[in-house]
Amino acid sequence: MYDVAIIGGGPGGLSAGIYAARANLKTVIIERGLYGGQMQNTLDIENYPGFDNIEGPELSEHMYNQAMKLGVEWKYGDVTSVKLEGQPKVLTFGEESLEAKSIIIASGATPRPLGVPGEAEFTGRGVSYCATCDGALYRGADVAVVGGGDSAIKEALLLTRYASTVTVIHRRDALRAAGILRDRALANPKIRFKWDSVVERVEGDARVGGVLIRNVKDNSNEVLAVKGVFIYIGVDPVTDFLEGSGILDEDGYIPTGHDMATSIPGVFAAGDVRATSIRQIISAASEGATAALHAYDYVESLPTV
Ligand code: NAP
Repeated sequence: MYDVAIIGGGPGGLSAGIYAARANLKTVIIERGLYGGQMQNTLDIENYPGFDNIEGPELSEHMYNQAMKLGVEWKYGDVTSVKLEGQPKVLTFGEESLEAKSIIIASGATPRPLGVPGEAEFTGRGVSYCATCDGALYRGADVAVVGGGDSAIKEALLLTRYASTVTVIHRRDALRAAGILRDRALANPKIRFKWDSVVERVEGDARVGGVLIRNVKDNSNEVLAVKGVFIYIGVDPVTDFLEGSGILDEDGYIPTGHDMATSIPGVFAAGDVRATSIRQIISAASEGATAALHAYDYVESLPTV
């Protein structure tokens, strides 16, 4: 029986693990991918205090090693079902299941697909959701980035290291991305913008050859010849395994109080999976710490058997 089982090993889950282990709680993290979560797909993190510039995989490793050093257990697995009410709480992943007194859900979020014809067909053959992973394949090529948020602009800037031109296709005429990213992108001679435009279709033969875009103001169509299309139109929470649990909002995120507690006693949430407007590494880490400290209070409050 664990005191705390943490679902997800991104910055929220790892930070929760560090805090829980330091509170002497028997702690396990269950993760289906690589430690670090979305940080693994990010180069050049410039806004995590203490590191003025660090690569995502390196920051992931620091956090993972710190958690392991403190005695957190790590298990690989895709959590498919949960029993959250009452005691003990039970998590099932693959053939295994485990029992815990409290649960911290830090399962994060995944890139949202555009849902246009050609997108699924050309995924891995020109359509990508990770410029950090695939950008180097597009040396000297013309590529497009879809979206206008922090991710789209950060990755467009990264792609300028490889591509000849990067065209940002955005559905309105102002970027959502934060000031410093926006200013850098607008000043970058390799970055072009297709404002008020949406992708209607991804086209090509064996690989992507272009995207059909439509101007939403005048309804005109145009084919933009590109070899790569990087899609960054937001993220969806990873909460399929929580369907029917009663702790999700209508968009599939988990609402919590300031203590990161969900509506079920002993169940907490942290990071991108939470219903919040701030999705940063630092906020996920902070929420993980808060969740763990409140999980400690919860575990301590349980009657001893
Ligand atoms: P986001 O902030 O939600 O931005 C999504 C972008 O895609 C928006 O510009 C949105 O347009 C556009 N969009 C959404 N649905 C679309 C559709 N169906 N078709 C075309 N365009 C669509 O998502 P994100 O950039 O992935 O960021 C997620 C979170 O992580 C945010 O909280 C962000 O601040 C954070 N983040 C931070 C950093 C950092 O360096 N600090 C880096 C990456 C991510 P509208 O603007 O018109 O809504």
